[in-house]
Amino acid sequence: MKNIAILGSTGSIGKTTLDIISQNRGVFNLYAISCNKNIFEISQQIVQFCPKIVVVFDEKKAKELKKNFPNQKILSGLKGLIEIATDPNVDFVLSSIMGSIGLVPTIEAIKANKVIGLANKEVLVAAGELVNKLLKEHKSIIIPVDSEHSAIFQALKGEKKENVKRIILTASGGPFLNFSTEMFKNITIEKALKHPNFSMGRKITIDSSTLMNKGFEVIEAFYLFNVDIEKIDVIIHKEQIIHSMVEFIDGSILAQMSTPTMKIPIQYALSYPDRILTDIDDFDFLKNNNLTFVKPDMEKFRCLKLAFEALKIGKSMPCFLNASNEILVEKFLNNKISWLEISKKLEKLMSLHEPKNMLCLEDVLEVDKLSRVLAGEV
Ligand code: MN
Repeated sequence: MKNIAILGSTGSIGKTTLDIISQNRGVFNLYAISCNKNIFEISQQIVQFCPKIVVVFDEKKAKELKKNFPNQKILSGLKGLIEIATDPNVDFVLSSIMGSIGLVPTIEAIKANKVIGLANKEVLVAAGELVNKLLKEHKSIIIPVDSEHSAIFQALKGEKKENVKRIILTASGGPFLNFSTEMFKNITIEKALKHPNFSMGRKITIDSSTLMNKGFEVIEAFYLFNVDIEKIDVIIHKEQIIHSMVEFIDGSILAQMSTPTMKIPIQYALSYPDRILTDIDDFDFLKNNNLTFVKPDMEKFRCLKLAFEALKIGKSMPCFLNASNEILVEKFLNNKISWLEISKKLEKLMSLHEPKNMLCLEDVLEVDKLSRVLAGEV
């Protein structure tokens, strides 16, 4: 039995993970769960799974929950998250708290030599270099949960790094793929929140519409697979059947494909290196007989270009990009700036940032904080 701790069990990745655990009770045991403040949702999870430890980030809400579950071990705050991420009984930590709150507990899980299923993009985007340094010093391993990185991870299994010619990340292109620059001016929050294939959280859905999500995935791929930037490509594949590919020096291309569902990559991370049965229907090739590929237009979708630039600049720039983008997306969702202004303001902010070395967690947190302040002001 694998004891699982979920950082962020009330989000969409967390909930899909719970489905997988409930269908595989003999294989996985839900040891700890956590939420920000959704105690309604987490109450149901407590009743269904009886976890040993529950963390509610918001202290007030944690106390409120304790009244309803007086015998349940309930912790709060960052301290609580770190406790479950490093608990000696935990075999697998699912890092799925969106935003930079997830960074510290994930770093602590690495230091505690845990197997980590990584669904939180910010960890590698903001602190890729630091994470890789820590991974060398500890026995921890990171298994990607994001569908693209899971695909690449699977395609690279047993392969030599020097035989990789390029990594090709596929992208849905988001809801505005065929919009003209003129139409970009009239994008509303409602339109941006409609993703063609996946139902996800609000922030990541906006990032998908600007292609920033793909930009972050490029940065993540760089740190996860240790390949040169020039060897990472993005292609629009709107059917989302191929989840990403690896091309090797002999011309072979390995693609991982399936019905588009997060269940498969999450389950693979949980069961790795094994595979377990799912309830997903046999893939229907005849219904999916038209797979298309289009080059992304980085002049139109500036965010993707900015992500490549941030990665080339390196040092603190990806971290700066990540935090600034988070604030700008929040502003867009609060009707304070337009959709087009997300990339415009980001570009301006990046030109103001002087990249610094990021040698420890404090450096990362400092850049993160600084960029949030700056992004709040533009
Ligand atoms: Mn993805």
